[in-house]
Amino acid sequence: MIDVRRHNANFCSDHFMKLVRDQTQKAIDAFEMLHRDERVLVAVSGGKDSLALWDILLTLGYQADGFYVGLGIGGYSDRSGAHVRAFAADRGLTLHEVDLRDTHGFDVPTAAAVTKRAPCSSCGLSKRHLFDKAALDGGYDAVATGHNLDDEAAVLFGNTLRWQTEYLARQLPVLPARAGFPRKIKPLVRLGEREMAAFCVLRGIDYVVEECPMAAGNKHLGYKAALNEIEASSPGAKQAFYFGFLARAVERFADAAPAHAEAGETALCARCGVPTTSEICAFCRLLEKTSGAEPVNLTVKGRRVPT
Ligand code: SF4
Ligand code: ZN
Repeated sequence: MIDVRRHNANFCSDHFMKLVRDQTQKAIDAFEMLHRDERVLVAVSGGKDSLALWDILLTLGYQADGFYVGLGIGGYSDRSGAHVRAFAADRGLTLHEVDLRDTHGFDVPTAAAVTKRAPCSSCGLSKRHLFDKAALDGGYDAVATGHNLDDEAAVLFGNTLRWQTEYLARQLPVLPARAGFPRKIKPLVRLGEREMAAFCVLRGIDYVVEECPMAAGNKHLGYKAALNEIEASSPGAKQAFYFGFLARAVERFADAAPAHAEAGETALCARCGVPTTSEICAFCRLLEKTSGAEPVNLTVKGRRVPT
């Protein structure tokens, strides 16, 4: 039996898997994320959420292919990539892959060292750029990511703590397509981390369990831990926080136009052609900075990370 305290109920294995699929379908329908005749590219990391999402979308009858970016984060990336490839091969699925170092000459640890910024900054920037490009090049209607309720509640918590209104304005489970960018969807927003892990176990999905070593010290881990404490004494708090924000607050931030919104994207990047707010897009600027840089050892906060 699997207990889901948020729903105040226990489920047997089959009913639990049905609950997970039903909640995903409910999110897709409620936020008009995807139609059956559309093609979706699932951004898979090798972790539980994205692999489960790919599996669920296929079971629900959607046309879903996978896309994996090799980030060059030592053994963690090797193991993540192996899980993704095995998942796709076992099921005969289409998987697209880009390796940052092979294709663009840098990896995430090197980008972090060169830019002197947190690794997640250049990692996130690179992934967004490559997901968008892969989706547009492949003629996909949307990119789906495995962000779950815990992820979204933690991001919302962080953005609210600092009243980052430009981020709050865009914290939606679906972002419509606009010139040069595909639609972005997060079909797992109604499901928690623990539920996704249980789903993978029941469904026999083998995923990389370890956290990315570059996540150490990441503020979101702290926000997740804080929300878990609140949830333990007040089941349903995360769901109320996140869905209450979507229902009653997000529209209030609509005027907080983020700098990267379409209004500011008046030019096309001189190097790669994506809409951008300056002459050269952020990804091409990162390419320029990392060009010729020697690969660095994997370090977090100055300490070597064992791989
Ligand atoms: Fe990239 Fe940061 Fe996620 Fe690691 S934790 S995969 S560096 S965004
Ligand atoms: Zn560019």
